[in-house]
Amino acid sequence: MALDKTGYPPLDFETFYNIIDGELSSTQNNVRYGINPFTLEKNPAVPVSSLHDVDRAVEAAGRAAKSWAEVPWDTRVSAIREYANAIEDKAEDFARILMMDTGKTVNLARDEISTCIQYLRGFCQLSLPSEVIEDAKERKVVTRYTPVGVVAGISPWNFPVQVACTWMAPAILTGNAYIWKPSPYTPYCSLKFAELGQHFFPPGVLQALSGDDDLGPLLTEHPNIQMVSFTGSTPVGKKVMESCSKTLKRVVMELGGNDPAIVCANVDPVSVAIKIASVAFCHSGQICIATKRIYIHEAVYDAVLAAMVEFVKTLKLGSGEDAYTGPINNKNHFEYVKDLLADVERTKLTVATGSTKPPSDMGGYYIVPTIIDNPPDDARVVVEEQFAPVLPLMKWSDEADVISRANNTNMGLGASVWSRDMDQAERLGKQLQAGNIWINTHAELQTSAPFPAHKQSGLGTAMAVDGLKACCNVQTIHTRPADGTT
Ligand code: NAD
Repeated sequence: MALDKTGYPPLDFETFYNIIDGELSSTQNNVRYGINPFTLEKNPAVPVSSLHDVDRAVEAAGRAAKSWAEVPWDTRVSAIREYANAIEDKAEDFARILMMDTGKTVNLARDEISTCIQYLRGFCQLSLPSEVIEDAKERKVVTRYTPVGVVAGISPWNFPVQVACTWMAPAILTGNAYIWKPSPYTPYCSLKFAELGQHFFPPGVLQALSGDDDLGPLLTEHPNIQMVSFTGSTPVGKKVMESCSKTLKRVVMELGGNDPAIVCANVDPVSVAIKIASVAFCHSGQICIATKRIYIHEAVYDAVLAAMVEFVKTLKLGSGEDAYTGPINNKNHFEYVKDLLADVERTKLTVATGSTKPPSDMGGYYIVPTIIDNPPDDARVVVEEQFAPVLPLMKWSDEADVISRANNTNMGLGASVWSRDMDQAERLGKQLQAGNIWINTHAELQTSAPFPAHKQSGLGTAMAVDGLKACCNVQTIHTRPADGTT
């Protein structure tokens, strides 16, 4: 087989396989097809894994984990760095299949691939050395971190590869084997990422299984998987936790969010409106940490609303370089969003821009970016995680009251405060019940900073050294001198 310029066989981006024990593996005629959200055309066939496939992957992962744990840290770092370089080399191909997977515009798809590369490289800069707790003549106490073994990573459809890299890289870096289960809606880019990984990791260290929604429970219940990293919705997260409890598996969860943004009276209305809307409408709002409820001080409410409406009207829908955002990812979620908009119409909320009906002339699962002007706090569009380009703007006048309204949710992923008065921003920010507080910005992430979640938005902390520790058992060694020695 011809090698490409980086020295490994060219990837075929047309046919898709499971990756089990270092091999491409098909499920014969048992296949399924994703739907391209832009065109509603069928995407290529992907495997539907059975329990037999799961057992084979888990068996290979168990074997691989034992030897991979013995590989020196620096060697594991080198493998991940080379893998990142190879992804970079194929970035345009990956972005292309990520578009048909997710409905991302070409620019958003490129962004996700380049974020994956940054994440892989970023995690390689972290370390997890043993910690000396006490080093006295008569006693030494050291804590070290050992890999848990086999980690199953269950990922959602909105950021199929970026979200998976959040756990795949720390798991592999710390010496575990990782079995990747992408969402049935978005298996394509993930399967190819895993296929490419076979050139850099020994068989069984990085595997991928595609399937239906009934594949997840086969992993969460499996007795020989030691940890599940789950990223998805809060209701499914609860099922995952219940299932993992049967084997007392380690479980970390990144779940839904309903991020508030609090806009203070002293802001520049135009620049803040543009910044907040840019996050809210990016990827048609299908981002866990998108701004989803905007509380604007009454003194600037009209100015921010007007500026945001003007900006949002310029956001072009489509797939190309000139498009800001694409369609909703899948039919189920499209039906949910249409129902949410029907509720906006039924309850006679004020639509400042956009529409309660999808555009009739675009073909895919498109929703027009829509702003709802000052709905009541108990409106569905405020209470629920819309995960859609439908954004409610509400008025506030009293600090204590707006904090209580912003915190009145089971979600606690992110929140932001927008103010020119940094004391006010800090005062408000510290009262918000969320894992990630942003001041005059929103949704910024980096591998060196923990990404925690409060309330029902998650369990455990991703990213940074916390993310590495989450993939490890902690072991403390207490040592005394042997009798007769000093
Ligand atoms: P989902 O919960 O429907 O599915 C997530 C994954 O779980 C998929 O791979 C699915 O096949 C699998 N799954 C479904 N049922 C299962 C079961 N019983 N056992 C095990 N696995 C099962 O979520 P989704 O619709 O794909 O993603 C959207 C949600 O994900 C949103 O709520 C969003 O906020 C959240 N999300 C959170 C983060 C974060 O970092 N907090 C990041 C991205 C997405």
